[in-house]
Amino acid sequence: MPEIFDVAVVGGGVIGSAVAYDLSAAGQSVILFDAAEDLGLAASDAAMGGILTQTEMACLGPLSTVIRRSRDIYEPWLDRLQHATGQEVHVLEGGDIQVALDRQEMDRLHTEMAPKWLQAPFEVRELTAAEARELEPLLSDQVVGGFLLREELALDPRELMVALRGALARSTAEVRVATRVAHVRSGPGHAEVELSDGSVIEAGTVVVAAGHQSGRLLPALADLIFPIKGEAFDLRPPGYTTYPLNHHVFAEITYGDERGYPYLVPRHDGRVAAGVTYEEHVHDDAPTPKGRDSIRAWTSTLMPATADWPLERHWAGLRPASPDHIPVIGYLDEHRRLLAATGHSGLGVTLAPVTAEMVAGLVLGSTGAERLEERLYICRPGRTFNSAELTPAPTVR
Ligand SMILES: Cc1cc2nc3c(=O)[nH]c(=O)nc-3n(C[C@H](O)[C@H](O)[C@H](O)COP(=O)(O)OP(=O)(O)OC[C@H]3O[C@@H](n4cnc5c(N)ncnc54)[C@H](O)[C@@H]3O)c2cc1C
Repeated sequence: MPEIFDVAVVGGGVIGSAVAYDLSAAGQSVILFDAAEDLGLAASDAAMGGILTQTEMACLGPLSTVIRRSRDIYEPWLDRLQHATGQEVHVLEGGDIQVALDRQEMDRLHTEMAPKWLQAPFEVRELTAAEARELEPLLSDQVVGGFLLREELALDPRELMVALRGALARSTAEVRVATRVAHVRSGPGHAEVELSDGSVIEAGTVVVAAGHQSGRLLPALADLIFPIKGEAFDLRPPGYTTYPLNHHVFAEITYGDERGYPYLVPRHDGRVAAGVTYEEHVHDDAPTPKGRDSIRAWTSTLMPATADWPLERHWAGLRPASPDHIPVIGYLDEHRRLLAATGHSGLGVTLAPVTAEMVAGLVLGSTGAERLEERLYICRPGRTFNSAELTPAPTVR
C-alpha cells in the first residue's frame, strides 16, 4: 500500500525546508524529499545571505509588497526556528550601503535608482562620501557618495540551514534525503510522487520546490525556470573574531571593459563573503579561476584592504530564475494538487518566510495573514512573465 501524507514537498533547499516546516507546525502530515545527501546543499548553500529589500532591481517592482511582508515576519520566523532548535542564527542589522566610486555612477544612482528606492516601502538615506566612510572606514577613497538601505539584514545561509534542518528534525515532518523524485502527478482525489526507485507516495498536495530543476517535474515550468550561475568566496581578514564590517556593502563599478558587482557580506565569526557573478542559463555549478579573479578585482576596488585578506572557500551555485525574477507560487493543475514554489532568483533566502506563509495559505485556506491574496496574485503561475513590463533587468545577483 502506498503511504499517504497531507503534503509532499520535493526539494529541501531553503524554500522547500521552510515550506515543510511551516506546514508541519500547522499540523499537516508532511514528507520532504531531497536528492542530495542533506538538505540545503544546492543554491541555498551558495547564497551571500543578504535579506534584501532594495539592493536587487527585482525588489523594486511589484515584488516589493511581497518582500515587505517577508522582512516584517523574518525576525519572528527566525525566533521560532531558534526556539525550536536552540540554534542561534546571527543577524547583522543596520542595512546595506550601496556606494558609487565615480560621478557617473552617482548620477545613475540619483536618476535610475533613487526614484525607485523612494517609491519602495522601505527606508533609504543618501550618504556623502564622508558619511559612507564614517559608517565603513575601509571603503575606498574613490567613493564619491552612496545610499544606506537601512532595513536590509544579513545572515549566514549555512547557519540558517542548520536551524531549518534542526527544526525539521524536531517536527513531525518526515525527511528523506538522497531520494530523487522522478515524477509528480495529480488526480481528482490525490497527488502522487514517484521516486526514482519506482515507489509511489500519495499526498493531498505536492509542493515542487526543486530550485532550478523544478521544470523537469512540472512541464508547465519547463520553459520558464532557468539557472543563473553565481560565484562567491569567503575572505578571512586577520585578527577578527566578529563582524569585520558594520554593514553589507554593494557597488556597481566599471572595471576595465567589464561591469563589476562587488558585494561584501560580513559574517559573525570574522569572515567576509565576497561576490558575486551573474551568468544566465549556465548549468554547471563549478567555481572558476575567472570568477575568482573578477570578484577579487572588483572587491579590491571597492575596499582595497580586502586584496590582502586570505581566501577560504570558493563556491558557485545556480539561482532558480523566472523571466521576470518574481517567484512562481501557486497551483499548476486543474485539480489544485500540484503546487509550485520556485523561481526566487537571487532572493530565495530573503523570501523563504513569506513563501512558506503563502504556500500554507493555499494549502490550508487563508492563514489570516493580511493581504495574502495580493501577494499570491503577484506570484501567480499564470501571469504573462513579461519582464520588461514588470521589472527592469536585475543588477546584482
Ligand atoms: C552566488 C549566489 C548568491 C546569492 N545571494 C543571495 C542573497 O544574498 N540573498 C538571497 O535572498 N538570495 C540569494 N541567492 C539566491 C538563493 O540562494 C536562492 O534563491 C535560493 O537558495 C533558492 O532556494 P531553493 O530552495 O528554491 O533552491 P535550492 O537551494 O537549489 O534547492 C532545491 C533543492 O531541490 C532538490 N531537488 C531538485 N530536483 C529534485 C528531485 N527531482 N528530487 C528531489 N530533490 C530535488 C535539490 O537537491 C536542492 O536541494 C544567491 C544565490 C547565489 C547562487
